[in-house]
Amino acid sequence: MPVLRTQVAIVGAGPAGLMLGHLLHLRGIDSVILENRSREYVIERVRAGVLEQGTVDLMTSSGVGDRLQREGMRHDGIYIAFDGARHHIDMAALTGGRAITVYGQNEVVKDLIAARIESGRPLHFEVEQVRPQGFDGTSPLVGFVENGERREIACDFIAGCDGFHGVCRESVPADRLNVYEREYPFGWLGILAHARPSSAELVYSNHRRGFALFSMRSPQVTRLYLQCAPDESLDAWPDERIWTELRLRLEMADGWRPNEGEIFQKGITGMRSFVVEPMRFGRLFLAGDAAHIVPPTGAKGLNLAMADVSRLAAALTRYYESGSEIGLDSYSEASLRRTWRAQRFSWWMTTMLHRPPDESAFDHKRQLAELDYLVNSRAAMTSLAENYVGTAFED
Ligand SMILES: Cc1cc2nc3c(=O)[nH]c(=O)nc-3n(C[C@H](O)[C@H](O)[C@H](O)COP(=O)(O)OP(=O)(O)OC[C@H]3O[C@@H](n4cnc5c(N)ncnc54)[C@H](O)[C@@H]3O)c2cc1C
Repeated sequence: MPVLRTQVAIVGAGPAGLMLGHLLHLRGIDSVILENRSREYVIERVRAGVLEQGTVDLMTSSGVGDRLQREGMRHDGIYIAFDGARHHIDMAALTGGRAITVYGQNEVVKDLIAARIESGRPLHFEVEQVRPQGFDGTSPLVGFVENGERREIACDFIAGCDGFHGVCRESVPADRLNVYEREYPFGWLGILAHARPSSAELVYSNHRRGFALFSMRSPQVTRLYLQCAPDESLDAWPDERIWTELRLRLEMADGWRPNEGEIFQKGITGMRSFVVEPMRFGRLFLAGDAAHIVPPTGAKGLNLAMADVSRLAAALTRYYESGSEIGLDSYSEASLRRTWRAQRFSWWMTTMLHRPPDESAFDHKRQLAELDYLVNSRAAMTSLAENYVGTAFED
């Protein structure tokens, strides 16, 4: 069987796997990236779009931020809407100048794939039957099938960057995993429309018919979400019904509402919070969605994945440069600390803005009181702003 040799075998070419491979390359560390989907599928998968300051800083400092700097849309604030009015939260003013940048996850992935190809280091798409093995010892292996041929990678470490449905977490015996999970009784119906964004900043709306979010992808493309049942079928949502519901939930008393246009992409996502502990099993490290999922309300998933691999790349660099395992040993605990803070924030944003199907009149009044407090208290707004723009990545 053909055996490849590398230092770090990376499973998954999402943002986590690609960024890890890129950071390792910059530090002279060899890696092989294995991805079970095609290059086109990975690039075209529409998902996140809000980058924390830390993610923008990481992309810029690692030399893959040129297009992001040109085309990304920096937002200094967001709006929180309820009772027919938008309330502005000036995040930059509240956090000493930190902001978010709107730049599609697929653009991030496109930039990272281009950098990987330029580096000349291996990136295998459409591989099958990926099997991480032997990570409790010192010589891990990753088996896979490519073009019908079984192959193996011998490596020092395996990075499980293969998302929530990946194989790395599954390859760990269940009795070594501590799983913390919460499913929410709603999902998001998301659309992309050819429509000029009608606001320069995002609008999060708590409406009696359910949550809605106005966002954007570019100066010509509006991104909109509305709360729906988690098992809702897209067939039940013809375009006209989507626009009617969005108008109801997002039109404000002052007449503001999203511009409308042709819908060219739509999908429904369930919402869950999930964490697995620890994030290290011998020489297997989990990063990104393979280890944790947050509901998208706080816009944290992609950013947490970037924070994980930034830390993991620093730990591996230290190991290869000095033999020190300090960074590797603290990786799981430090990543979980950031993860749980993001979990708390995402849960808080979600419960404050959505209307659960079994909501009581008391719950609704309490939710409105929380929103009222939020938009009238500098302390509460600062707390939201700090969490939304994210703290600096530690490594
Ligand atoms: C609708 C939606 C909106 C979102 N909005 C935001 C947002 O605004 N901000 C934010 O920060 N986050 C957001 N997220 C979350 C964000 O998209 C994820 O957190 C992010 O993709 C995580 O990156 P990752 O690399 O860890 O995992 P993934 O992107 O899932 O990448 C994992 C990769 O591994 C591959 N893979 C899986 N199994 C195998 C296998 N067996 N062998 C080889 N390869 C495998 C997959 O094909 C995939 O390419 C959103 C998510 C959704 C669904």
